[in-house]
Formats: sequence, C-alpha cells, structure tokens
Amino acid sequence: MARKYIDCREMPSESNCTVTIAADSEQELLEAAVQHAVKVHGHQDTPAFRQQLSGAIHTGAPPA
Ligand SMILES: [Zn+2]
Repeated sequence: MARKYIDCREMPSESNCTVTIAADSEQELLEAAVQHAVKVHGHQDTPAFRQQLSGAIHTGAPPA
C-alpha cells in the first residue's frame, strides 16, 4: 500500500510550520492532519476544511 502524506509547508499558515504528516490510509492521515491543524494552527474542524486538506494529500514518500 502506498504511503500518503500532507506537507504542512504547503498549507496556508502564518507560523511557517514545517511538519509533514504521513500515514498508510487517507482516513488516518486526514484525522491526524485535522488534529494537527486544529491544535497547532487554530483551524476549525469543518467539512470544508477537511475537503481542503484532502486536496493536499500526496501519494508516496515525503521528500527529505
Ligand atoms: Zn502545521
């Protein structure tokens, strides 16, 4: 199964966050990313925000 990841550097934020979150399933990844965004960036956990996050999911290994 391919690894999936979200690179927080690609997300609009003012904190210059450099976290990359990776998981094997899109669902798992989305949950982790939402928790990170809410806790660290103060985002609201909304369907629209989840939609935005799922659009930022990459398949493969995160770049070093
Ligand atoms: Zn972040």
